[in-house]
Amino acid sequence: MKLIFLGPPGAGKGTLAVKAVDLVKVPHISTGVIFRSAIAAQSPLGLKVKAIIDGGRLVDDETTIELVKERLVQTDAQKGYILDGFPRTIGQAEALAGFSAVDKVANFDIPDSGVLERLSGRQVCRKCGANYHIVFNKPVKEGVCNSCGGEVYVREDDREEAIRKRLEVYREQTAPLIEFYRKKGLLIDVDARPGVEEVVNNFKKALGL
Ligand code: ADP
Ligand code: ADP
Ligand code: ZN
Repeated sequence: MKLIFLGPPGAGKGTLAVKAVDLVKVPHISTGVIFRSAIAAQSPLGLKVKAIIDGGRLVDDETTIELVKERLVQTDAQKGYILDGFPRTIGQAEALAGFSAVDKVANFDIPDSGVLERLSGRQVCRKCGANYHIVFNKPVKEGVCNSCGGEVYVREDDREEAIRKRLEVYREQTAPLIEFYRKKGLLIDVDARPGVEEVVNNFKKALGL
């Protein structure tokens, strides 16, 4: 199954993707996670994208498309994938259509108030990328990842200025993808407002699982 997770930043895409891999048995591919690992490793890609990401802007289409194209030819992605955070522009969606045929696009529906509440409390493990929230999903030991013991930190782009910028970018560049995929008959709407377990159930129902 080839799935796209579409939705505003902070909608809960990454959190659901981690749960959904057990259901659909395909790899979770997050462009945000790939970029953050590159930044942590200080690779040429990481050095190129750090300031852009910290400021809440989008990495250019050419770089991002190339990255995903290379990832999707790997063996584990042949049976399918969950693409989380890609495509984010019409240009990326058109390019993707040229090298992979997507089965369904899950659109995470949540108002701005919910997004702000989730983003302003998000914490992430520096080592394994696991997601936490200061209210909804605290690590057992403050500042320490439950699964790998890594340092749990607040992303630079989860600070107020960058959050505002990311929501603006989402509205202008990513939201048009909802109609793009609806017209193709691929869109399924997932109510992303409730707690994680309920969102998992909404997702299963929407996919007919
Ligand atoms: P969020 O959790 O807010 O949805 P991600 O972890 O998916 O954010 O992405 C973090 C940042 O990485 C984005 O704000 C953007 O700068 C960059 N990025 C991720 N995916 C893409 C993409 N498909 N196109 C361009 N930039 C991207
Ligand atoms: P995205 O990948 O769409 O940017 P995340 O999965 O990183 O979103 O979730 C954003 C924040 O909200 C994280 O701190 C996460 O722990 C929390 N979160 C995710 N889903 C829910 C939910 N259904 N209810 C409450 N908090 C959630
Ligand atoms: Zn960890």
